[in-house]
Amino acid sequence: MLYVSTRGSAPALDFEGVTLAGLASDGGLYVPAEWPGFTPDEIAAMKGLPYAELAVKIMAPFVGDSLSEDKLLGLCREAYGTFAHDAVTPLVQFDEQHWLLELFHGPTLAFKDVALQLLGRLFETFLGRHDDHLTIVGATSGDTGSAAIDAVAGREKVDIFMLHPKGRVSDVQRRQMTTVLAPNVYNIAIDGSFDDAQAMVKRMFGDTAMTGRFHISAVNSINWARLMAQVVYYFAAALQLGAPQRKVAFSVPTGNFGDVFAGYVAAKMGLPIERLIVATNVNDILHRALGDGDYSAGTVTPTAAPSMDIQVSSNFERLLFDCGGRDGAALAEQMRGFEASKAMRLTNAQREGAAALFTSARADADDMAQAMRWAHEHCGETIDPHTAIGLHAARAAGIDPAIPVVTLATAHPAKFPDAVERAIGSRPSLPARVGDLFEREERYVELPGDYDAIAAYVAEHATPNG
Ligand SMILES: *Cc1c(COP(=O)(O)O)cnc(C)c1O
Repeated sequence: MLYVSTRGSAPALDFEGVTLAGLASDGGLYVPAEWPGFTPDEIAAMKGLPYAELAVKIMAPFVGDSLSEDKLLGLCREAYGTFAHDAVTPLVQFDEQHWLLELFHGPTLAFKDVALQLLGRLFETFLGRHDDHLTIVGATSGDTGSAAIDAVAGREKVDIFMLHPKGRVSDVQRRQMTTVLAPNVYNIAIDGSFDDAQAMVKRMFGDTAMTGRFHISAVNSINWARLMAQVVYYFAAALQLGAPQRKVAFSVPTGNFGDVFAGYVAAKMGLPIERLIVATNVNDILHRALGDGDYSAGTVTPTAAPSMDIQVSSNFERLLFDCGGRDGAALAEQMRGFEASKAMRLTNAQREGAAALFTSARADADDMAQAMRWAHEHCGETIDPHTAIGLHAARAAGIDPAIPVVTLATAHPAKFPDAVERAIGSRPSLPARVGDLFEREERYVELPGDYDAIAAYVAEHATPNG
C-alpha cells in the first residue's frame, strides 16, 4: 500500500515511511492511494473475533509489506493488553436507540490510548530496523500528550517533546503528562492556545535547520497510523449491533477531525454507516463548514471539554482531499489561502461529498450539562464533558429510530471531575491504576508562545539523528 500527500508534491511512501514521517514534506497529510474494501461476507466473517484479531484484519491492507501479519498481531496483543477491559472498547446501552462505545479503558483514560499504544510499538519496531533516532514533537489539547508519553516513555531511540497550553488542560490531564519522569520525556507549558502550539509544531516540520539535525516526527492525529488504528472500533461496535446486515450511526465528539475521519475510512472500506454525526462544542468551525461551507477560524473559547477547544481541524484536509477529487495541487492552493486568511469556502464537490455521510451538531455548556444529567438520571451512566457533547448531538440528530446510534465515549469522567460534579452533583473517582496521581512529583518547563524559544529548547535537549 502506498500513501500520497493531500498537497500532491511530497513523495509517495509505504506504511513504515508514513508512520515515521507524520506530516508530509509538502505540508500535506498522507492518505492511502486507494481505499481497501471488504465485501459484506468478509465483514460478516469478522463477527466475534477478539479485538486484536479484528484489528489485524482491518489494518493489514493498510500496513501492506511493512509488517508480517504475525508481527502485527503480536504488537496488537501487547498494545490492547494494556487496557483494563477484556473487550478493549466495550459497548454499553443507554436506551432502545442509543449506545455508548467506551474507548477510555487504556492507561491514560482517553481514546487516544487506542491508537498510541500501538503507535509507540510501531515506532520501536521500525526504528529497530534503522540506525535512526526519532524526536517526537507534539501539541496537545490535553489527552494526546499523556497517551503519547505513556506510549513512548523509557523507549529507546525516541525523545518526546510535548507542548500544552498553560492553564488550559485539567489538573488530571496535566499530571498524567508531567509526572512521567523518564529521561526521554520533555513537557512544555506554553503561553497560548492549543492552536498556537499546533502551529509551532507544524512550523518545526518545515524548519530545515531543525529537520536537518533531528528526525522530527508527529504523534498528533496527522499521523496516519493513528487514524488507521481507530478504524477498528467502528467495525467492532457495528458488528455487535448487527452489521453488515444492519446500518449503524455514530456520534463523535470532534476536535481535530481525526476520530470521525476514522469513521469515514470505515465507511469507505464497506462498513454500512448510516451517518457520522460531528459533535462540536462552541468552537464550532466544523459545524459551520459542514452546514454552509464556511471554514473560517474564530478565536478559541476555553470550555469544559478542552480536548475539543480547537478551531483549525488538521484532519479535515484529508476529507477535503478525498471528497474534492483528490487534486493535490488544487488543495495545496486552497490550504495556502486558508493559512493566509484563516478562512476559506468549501468547493461544491467538497460540500456534497461531505454531506453524503456527515451531519453536525453543536453543544453549548447547557446542552452538555443536560446530556450528562440525562445519562446519569435515566441510564445510570456517568459520562465526561466530551462524551456528553457527543450524546447531545446523537439525540439531536434526528436519526431514524430503527437505526442504532453509537456515541463514542472519548474520555473517562474522572479526567474532568469538576465539570462532572457541576452537572450531576457527584464526583467520579479515579480508577485504581492512576489513583496516586496527585501524590507524584511533576516536571515541566514553561516557555513563551514563541517559535524560536521552543525550537531552541528542543535543539538543546534532543538527540541528533545518525
Ligand atoms: C482528542 C479528543 C477529542 C477529539 O478527537 P479528534 O480526533 O481530535 O477529533 C475528543 N474527546 C476527547 C476526550 C479527546 O481526548
